[in-house]
Formats: sequence, C-alpha cells, structure tokens
Amino acid sequence: MTKRIIIVGAGHNGLVCAAYLARAGREVLVLEANAQVGGAAVTRTFAPGYQVPAVAHLLYGFDPAIERELQLRQHGFTDAKSRVLTVALNPDGAPLVHDGREVVSGLSHAEDRQAFTDFMHKMRRLAALLKRQHGRTPPQLTWASWRDAWPLVRLALQMRLLGRADMRELLRMITMPMHDVLEESFAGDLLKGALAVDAVLGTKLGPRSGNTVLNFLHRYTGASAPRVPVGGMGAVSESLASAARAAGVQIRLGARVAAINIESGRATGVTLASGEVIAASTVVSGADPKTTFERLVGLQYLEAELARRIHHMRCEGTAAKLHVALRALPQFKGVDAALVGERLLIAPSALYVDEAFNPAKYGEYSTDPIVEISIPSIADPTLAPAGHHVLSAIVQYAPAHLNGGWEAQRAAFEARVLAVLERYAPGFGSHIVATELLTPADLETQFGLRGGHWHHGELTLDQYLTLRPVPGLGHYATPVQALYLCGAGCHPGGGVMGRAGRNAARVVLQGGVS
Ligand SMILES: Cc1cc2nc3c(=O)[nH]c(=O)nc-3n(C[C@H](O)[C@H](O)[C@H](O)COP(=O)(O)OP(=O)(O)OC[C@H]3O[C@@H](n4cnc5c(N)ncnc54)[C@H](O)[C@@H]3O)c2cc1C
Repeated sequence: MTKRIIIVGAGHNGLVCAAYLARAGREVLVLEANAQVGGAAVTRTFAPGYQVPAVAHLLYGFDPAIERELQLRQHGFTDAKSRVLTVALNPDGAPLVHDGREVVSGLSHAEDRQAFTDFMHKMRRLAALLKRQHGRTPPQLTWASWRDAWPLVRLALQMRLLGRADMRELLRMITMPMHDVLEESFAGDLLKGALAVDAVLGTKLGPRSGNTVLNFLHRYTGASAPRVPVGGMGAVSESLASAARAAGVQIRLGARVAAINIESGRATGVTLASGEVIAASTVVSGADPKTTFERLVGLQYLEAELARRIHHMRCEGTAAKLHVALRALPQFKGVDAALVGERLLIAPSALYVDEAFNPAKYGEYSTDPIVEISIPSIADPTLAPAGHHVLSAIVQYAPAHLNGGWEAQRAAFEARVLAVLERYAPGFGSHIVATELLTPADLETQFGLRGGHWHHGELTLDQYLTLRPVPGLGHYATPVQALYLCGAGCHPGGGVMGRAGRNAARVVLQGGVS
C-alpha cells in the first residue's frame, strides 16, 4: 500500500504542512488547482508589466519559527520594507500616523498619545496569550486521561499568569464590540477609525458587533507593524514551495481535485478533475472546510449533526480587492511624499466604519467603504515599469452574496471606489493605466476561497480554538480516518501565518484522530 500523503491545495498553509511532513521523511504530493503556488498569497500580473499581491498584500503575523526552521531566507524570502506605518487619511487635513506602538504624528487630542501607547501595550499582552495557543493543537474538551486534560489546564494557568488586572480585562473585553472599547479609551475620530479597521478587516462584522475585540487581538498576535516582502506576497509562497521541494515534496500545478476518495470510512486518495485517480495513505486538505466536506468529500460521510454544522458555518466574505496600474504616484491630501508607501487607511472615524458596514448586513455594498491601500512598487520597483506604480487596495464592505449579483454591479462598485480614492487623492483618475476589481465572488472562483472569506470562515468565539472550524473538527483530524485539515479554516485562523499548516503536520505525524 502507498505511503504517499496528498495535500489538497498549495496555499501557504498547504506548503508549510507539506514541507514539515517531507522533512520528517514522508512522501508528499501537493495538488494545486491553480497555475501557481500560494493560494491567496500570490503575486500576479494584472495588466502588462504590472504585478500586484493579488489577494493578501501585507505580512502581519508570519510565524518566525517557520521562517527559521524552513530557512526561508535561503529560499529567497526577504523584506522590501520591514515596519510599515499606518497612515489614517484625513479628508480635511493632516493624517494620523502610528506604528502599532506609538502615535507618530497627527493627533487631534493630546490625551490620546499616552492612552494609545498604554492601550496597545495592554492589547499586545492579551494577544500574547492567544499567540501562545496559535502554535498548539487546541485543548480537548473531553478527556480520556490527564494527558488529554493538560492543554486546557495549561491554558487556564496561562490566563491566571496574565495577572489579576489583565485576566479581568481579557474576560471583560473578549466579547465586547470594539466600538465600545474605543469609546472608553480614546477621544480622536481618526485614531478610533484606524483601530476599528483592525477589528473588522476580513470579517462580516462592524465595530458595534461582538467578537471584534477578538479579531483585533488576532491581528496583533503578529508583529505590531506589517512587512512587505520583495516580490510581493507571492514571494513568501514561492520561498515555501522552494523549501518544500528541497525537502522532497512534489508539487503539481493545474491539478484540481474533484473528489477525496473514501472507502470504509477512510480516505484512500483523490480523483482529479481530469479523471486521474491518485492513491494515498493520508489526505490533508488545505481547501476551506466547507469546500472540503461539501464538495470534495460529500456530507454523506459525516454524522448528520456535523454535516449540519459545516453547512451553517459562517463564511461570507466582505472584502474585495482593487488593483490600479498608475503612470505616476498619486498625491494623497495632507500626506507627505515619504509616507505614501506606508499602509494608508480610509476610515476617518469608527462611525464611518460602522455606517460602511450597515449595507453589507442586507446584501448591499457600501458606497463609502473602508479602504486599506498599499503601493508596494515604492519599496519594490520590480512590480511596475520604471516610474510607474501599482496600488493594491482592500475594499470593505462588499458582501459575497450581493443582492442582484456582482456581474450587474461590479462596474458601479468600482466607479464608486475610484471616486472615494479621488476624494482623498485629487487627480488620482488621471494617473490610471489599468484596473482590476476582484469581488468576493471572484475570489471564490479564482482562488477557491469559499465566500471569498479572508479566514476561510468567520473568526468569532463560536468558531474559535477548539470550536474551529466547527465543533467536532477542532484538532485538524476529522471523523474520516486519514483525512486532515490544514488551512485557515482551522485553528488559529487566517492571515498569512503558516501556523495551521505547521500544527496540522504535527498532528498527522502523531497519527491524530478526531
Ligand atoms: C481580500 C483579502 C485580503 C487579504 N489580505 C491579507 C493581508 O494583507 N495579510 C494577510 O496576512 N492576510 C490577508 N488575507 C487573508 C489570507 O490571504 C488568507 O487567510 C490566507 O492566504 C489563507 O491561506 P491558506 O493557505 O490557509 O489558504 P488559501 O490561500 O486559500 O489556499 C488554499 C489553496 O487550495 C487550493 N484549492 C482549493 N480547492 C482545491 C481543489 N479542489 N483542488 C486543488 N486545489 C484546491 C486553492 O487554489 C488554494 O491555492 C486576505 C484575504 C482576503 C480575502
């Protein structure tokens, strides 16, 4: 019988998982539907001569242990810019600039300076508790032995070690809406708007929704300021693929898996869309959980309650991507030229963010969306022709299930976003060479992200830790023998971090069962 392990999908988590399994001596074959590795962490050409990070564009929380252990620097991974500042654009004047630790400039209320430093310090201490869990398989809730109980006991101990004040703050805030936390902490609108973005980006939540503090903490489990890799986000994935191949992994591109084959309750391999059948002793899916079970496995192989949970798992994306090829750098109102290459935010207040969310609840896009802008060609000129630039913008809120469908409304939405950019950078339109809009529906079609969701499934307490992606699937192993999950839909969630892939590899090597 074959000992081959098949990994479905060469997203960054699939590649991380593959590399660790191969380094442990396993035979690994990665099957990727697309023509390039990386999933949502890719760099691609969207207009002749212009390349952008096609989905994810800033690197927040890539696990330094993975970077070190897989020797990614030797496989071509390097930073073009290592501490990207956040610049909250101001429609009426100077922007607010912060580095995730301190406000650099632009405060409207002096008292916010110390309040911000203290707040971020506290949030990083609380995020550190979550970060410690990120590298581990979530605790079991039922125990056959004290050994099974230890992860939960350790989590409780670590909470206790936060100290009385921080433990109380964590318990108080974890389910709170970010809006309320911001109101009790700060006075300035620009500051509150920028922090509200960090609590909602990639979710179908607004700042007044519960679980937004959790999302904020998830973001700050990574570095306080993001990075931009040379070659865009795709370069991270290429370095992972190179490390995986060096360890013996075989990667087949353009190999769409149509079905994960099950015999007598055990995964035995896959059938490709071409009809080719490939046998395996183990199958690890880096595709999102809904796709894995509803489309590749078939819900008939699951117990009814688990099938129902998967069906109802929330994974409607609201983030679109707009790429713009520019013949010159745009000038944003009040922004010094030295800051244009930083992370620019259009979210002038928490109220703006909240109002932007309202239409998405009812299947409409926001006409005044929040926008996160990166112009990676400033730090990495290889992405555009000489003197030209590429702008990469995450635009939220644009719900995947838009009333009336995206095809009828994509042109109007793009025009609306360009009008918002024009408002903040007068003359923007005159620099445009080409544009590309990727709606959440496009993200599903082109990158296989179900619902176009950033995390492969909403990151809320009911879909978190042991409960992620759904109760019964929280430990990478599944009820189907020899079938595992390794993507962002698992603990600890999305963002280009690699931790789900690394944790899953460990569970596969230990022969974990659900
Ligand atoms: C608009 C948007 C912007 C984002 N921006 C950022 C950002 O700036 N920074 C950040 O850190 N994160 C960002 N994210 C989140 C981040 O991109 C994802 O969480 C992360 O890339 C998920 O990685 P993954 O490896 O788990 O899954 P994926 O990247 O989704 O990889 C899954 C892979 O499986 C493949 N696949 C699926 N089905 C099959 C099949 N049947 N057969 C073969 N292959 C298959 C897919 O093609 C894909 O390559 C963003 C997400 C979105 C939607």
